[in-house]
Formats: sequence, structure tokens, C-alpha cells
Amino acid sequence: NKQVILKDYVSGFPKESDLPFTTGSKQLNVPQGSTGVFVKNLFLSCDPYMRGRMSPKRPGAYSDSFIPGSPITGYGVARVLDSGHPDFKKGDLVWGLTGWEEYSLITATQGLFKVHDTDVPLSYYTGILGMPGMTAYAGFYEVCSPKKGEYVFVSAASGAVGQLVGQFAKLSGCYVVGSAGSNEKVDLLKNKFGFDEAFNYKEEQDLDAALKRYFPEGIDIYFENVGGKMLDAVLLNMRLHGRIAVCGMISQYNLGQPEGIHNLAHLILKRIRMEGFLVIDYYHLYQKYLEMVLPQIKAGEIVYVEDIVEGLENGPAALIGLFTGRNVGKQVVVVARE
Ligand code: NDP
Repeated sequence: NKQVILKDYVSGFPKESDLPFTTGSKQLNVPQGSTGVFVKNLFLSCDPYMRGRMSPKRPGAYSDSFIPGSPITGYGVARVLDSGHPDFKKGDLVWGLTGWEEYSLITATQGLFKVHDTDVPLSYYTGILGMPGMTAYAGFYEVCSPKKGEYVFVSAASGAVGQLVGQFAKLSGCYVVGSAGSNEKVDLLKNKFGFDEAFNYKEEQDLDAALKRYFPEGIDIYFENVGGKMLDAVLLNMRLHGRIAVCGMISQYNLGQPEGIHNLAHLILKRIRMEGFLVIDYYHLYQKYLEMVLPQIKAGEIVYVEDIVEGLENGPAALIGLFTGRNVGKQVVVVARE
């Protein structure tokens, strides 16, 4: 059973050597009396929140730290090989939290979803049909309450979550601009996902001036994925009664000391509602989301770009690549295809 383990707690940017590849013993089935499921892992999801789990648990953190010396865990798609749980049987496809290894015994089955629709790529259950998809849906529709004609800005816009927020915004009749870290990504935003405009934030000396260029009338909705300097510049450009959905702040995850934000007083001046949210509070809407998005995917109204690496041994580089913007679209690791 090949595995990716956490060598030791990480400070600063994670390195490939923090996530070595080893071979562990293979459990062959579910132990007698257990209600767990034994699975073969197919696709693993690389997600930014996994960085927090590489450090000792901080007060208030919603997920436990990885255990040094043990396989790391994350979202994935898997096939059930053996089950002690009445809701799952051999042969079922599932998505949820699993191990970064070839085979896993999943005991926390309450967060495991059965895959019913296989007319779409299975890897989509790590992205558009999984946790990041639910994040975009909950964050945009539930937190931002978009209205037709509003001005929407999305950062990390070409990623797993951002590319969907932009497309949902267009389907809602909004004007949407995205920022991303390369010209290739900017091209995707404009020509694949249908953003009205997009810019490479790494090429802008002055983010405030860039936002003024794209939003001469200001921003109604900011879908926040990065934090730091971008948030500060956005605060200067919000409109009256604007909303900021704080989804993530990836620019801060590897800093020992978070950067300060200077322009928060604009929340008062513009009567802005800034709201953080966690996808885990919205899974009761998953079925409703699938009913919306599956037909949109099949009709070609929503597209989804994935960055797929083959082989568990290439997983660590893919995971840490999220923090340098190596991924173009949703980062997926293929462990096995069937
Ligand atoms: P992405 O697929 O967007 O990958 C991460 C991207 O972040 C990189 O490709 C890179 O894109 C960008 N990035 C990395 N470092 C920086 C930096 N220093 N400054 C600016 N941008 C940076 O990830 P996801 O779509 O999966 O996640 C997006 C955000 O959503 C993250 O902040 C994540 O933590 C958050 N999230 C929150 C959830 C919740 O429940 N609240 C659930 C899921 C995700 P680029 O090349 O454009 O810089």
C-alpha cells in the first residue's frame, strides 16, 4: 500500500521532502464488527486548506492536524472493496475524506457521499461535483445574494472554486472580472469561462489602479480567495452595500505572521457586509446543487478545467504547487483509474 506521509510539522512553504512517499502494510478488508468501508482510492483532491493541517492545530481550527509519520488525508473519489456499513456495498463509488494511499479503511463514513451519476468524469467529484463546487455554490448564491447586473470580482479566479464562481456570476447576469497569476490563466478566464475581463495580478504594480480600470463604478460582490494586498485594494473599490464573501486567504497560509489589512474602515463608509463561511455548514444543500449543476454540465453551460497529474508519487509536488500557482484549474491526482 503506497502512501504519502507527513514527515513532520511544516513551517513556511511546504516542500516535497515534507511529504515523503512510503510503503505501508495493506489492510485487506473491514475488520469484524466495524462499520467502516475499505476502499481503493482513484482520484485525490489537492486543496489549499490541507496546508493548515501540516502545522500543529491552532485554536479554533475546524480540521485536525495530520499526524507526523502517518498518511495524510484529504478529499478523494474511491471504489468500495468491502463494507461493514449498511449504506455502502462492494463496487459502490464514493467521494469524501480518504487517505493519500492506494487503499484506505474509512471509518468516518458520515462524510462519505455515494456517486450516483457517472455520465460525467469521475474526477469531477473532487472538484465541480465535490467540495470546491459546493464551496462556490454556497459562497456565491448563499453568502453573496447576487442580483442581475451587479459587478463581481473573483480572485484566484481560474482555480477549483474561482472558475465556478465566475461562471455562476455570468449565469446570474452579473458583470464579472477575475484575477489570476499568469497570462495563460487570464486567457482561460476570458476565453473559456466567459469572464468579462481578467488580469494578471503579478503584472500590476498598483492593484488599486487595476481594479479602478476594470470597475470604474466599483465592486458589488467580492469573492475573496487570496487575502492580503488584494483584499486591501478591493476594500478601496467596493460600492455602497457591497458584499464580500471570505472563502479563503491563500496568500497568508504560509506566512508565520499574517499581513495586516489597512482599509477596513471602508466597511463602515460603504455599509459593506463581509462574511466568512465554511463549506461544511452547507452540505445539506448538496442534492439541490447537483440538481442545478449536473444539467448545466451536460448542456455545456458550465465547463470545468482540471489539472490532472498521474500517480500518487507525483501528489506531493502537485499539492504544494497550489501555493506557487503551478496548477491550471482544479488540481487532481490520479491514483488509479478503476
Ligand atoms: P485553487 O485551485 O485556486 O489553487 C490555489 C491558487 O491560489 C493557485 O493556483 C494560485 O493561483 C493562487 N495563489 C497561491 N498563492 C497565492 C498568493 N500568495 N497570492 C495570490 N494567489 C495565490 O484553489 P481552490 O479553488 O481550491 O481554493 C481557493 C480558495 O478557496 C483558497 O483560499 C481556499 O483555502 C478556499 N477554500 C475555502 C473553503 C471554505 O469552506 N471556506 C473550501 C474550499 C476552498 P494564481 O496563479 O492565480 O496565483
